[in-house]
Amino acid sequence: MSKAVKYSLAEDQIPDHWYNIVADLPEPLPPVLHPGTGQPIGPGDLAPLFPMAIIEQEVATAREIAIPGPVRDVYRMWRPTPLYRARRLEQAIDTPAKIFYKYEGVSPSGSHKTNTAVAQAFYNREAGVARITTETGAGQWGSALAIAGSLFGIDIKVFMVRVSYDHKPYRKAFMQAYGAECVPSPSDETEAGRAILAEHPHTTGSLGIAISEAVEIAAKNDDTKYSLGSVLNHVLLHQTVIGQEALAQMEMAGAYPDVIVGCTGGGSNFAGIALPFLGQKLRGGNDVRIVACEPAACPSLTRGKYAYDFGDTGHLTPLVKMHTLGSTFIPPGFHAGGLRYHGMAPLVSHLLALDLIEARAFHQRACFEAGVQFARTEGILPAPEANHAVRGAIDEALECKKQGVSRNILFNLCGHGHFDMTAYDEYLAGNLTDRHYDQKQLDHALGALPRVGP
Ligand SMILES: *Cc1c(COP(=O)(O)O)cnc(C)c1O
Repeated sequence: MSKAVKYSLAEDQIPDHWYNIVADLPEPLPPVLHPGTGQPIGPGDLAPLFPMAIIEQEVATAREIAIPGPVRDVYRMWRPTPLYRARRLEQAIDTPAKIFYKYEGVSPSGSHKTNTAVAQAFYNREAGVARITTETGAGQWGSALAIAGSLFGIDIKVFMVRVSYDHKPYRKAFMQAYGAECVPSPSDETEAGRAILAEHPHTTGSLGIAISEAVEIAAKNDDTKYSLGSVLNHVLLHQTVIGQEALAQMEMAGAYPDVIVGCTGGGSNFAGIALPFLGQKLRGGNDVRIVACEPAACPSLTRGKYAYDFGDTGHLTPLVKMHTLGSTFIPPGFHAGGLRYHGMAPLVSHLLALDLIEARAFHQRACFEAGVQFARTEGILPAPEANHAVRGAIDEALECKKQGVSRNILFNLCGHGHFDMTAYDEYLAGNLTDRHYDQKQLDHALGALPRVGP
């Protein structure tokens, strides 16, 4: 058995700033538009939903944004996270490639989401906010925010997509253990929820619906703000601690990545590992290929339209330009619940449109197969979402084998799968099928995109 190879940083190497790629973009991001006027929104339009410090980060243009001391103090609980060389996986697939992975599953919530949850809870507390509402798909984001809320003394109310709420009772218990409230969505607590229930009483729910519910509560209550676990610029910004640490760790390994692979739901963990490397490239540094891996059942980057759309199903959010399947699209209930969002981070969408990144889609059985192979060689059982990155990395390594070339492949193992054993149970029992989205529903959802913007 080969020796485990782990690159660990010292605690004082936790980054002291977040990296903002907006400073290095060759073309600026398209503006966010007001749904009523079709004009660019200003900070004041977002003020009912977010504290001003977060709004400032959403539109920031500075390259480096300092991480507040209290946030860094919490990061110390699990950061810097380890980076490993996957030697035993390399041997198992007999590839000349070197495979490295950054492991974010060591955080108290088991995924990368805690990186932004802690920052968002901190800024809300600084602004005197009493309660934060949010949505959660598979439960990882609700869990991360529940932990952050308990650490900073803020009440958390989570709207959890119905299908996950029913299938993952442990997630609800986890959030409640930290003092958060967890409601299945759609619920009868909001107008948005009641409208959906009237039309589709047995709906599995969707992230888009849950977002509408959480936004509605925040907009109607002065002491309540809203928080999002992915998609927005400030969330991607907070995740750049991952890539900055990875830069230092790859230097320790003496191997600059040729390819970086990440899975994409809303785009935050992918951006977190990739953007600091992409920034180096944009400033004249090493070239690097960057590959986003998404589920074939919810393929926003590979099958969606790059267009202005709403972030939610109830059409309460501003319009952002992104790769979207349409805000009314409800993806089939496959097992990587964290990847079931109809849109994609505007920043990630912009990078794809500029050809600075690539995108690939994978079916779920091929992803679980990769995840199980990873667990049996490297010892860590990945989250079903992370399996898309594992699949992408293994495919890159197999391509190296075919071509007889060695490349350095780096991927983000964004979370562990300990809360997702039902999914593994079904995979191992042979009950998983590859889910296909309904083309008619997709055409319909794309046909109904709002007609605004350039
Ligand atoms: C939430 C989540 C995702 C998807 O969200 P991104 O913003 O695309 O990172 C992927 N993996 C894990 C483990 C998650 O918790």
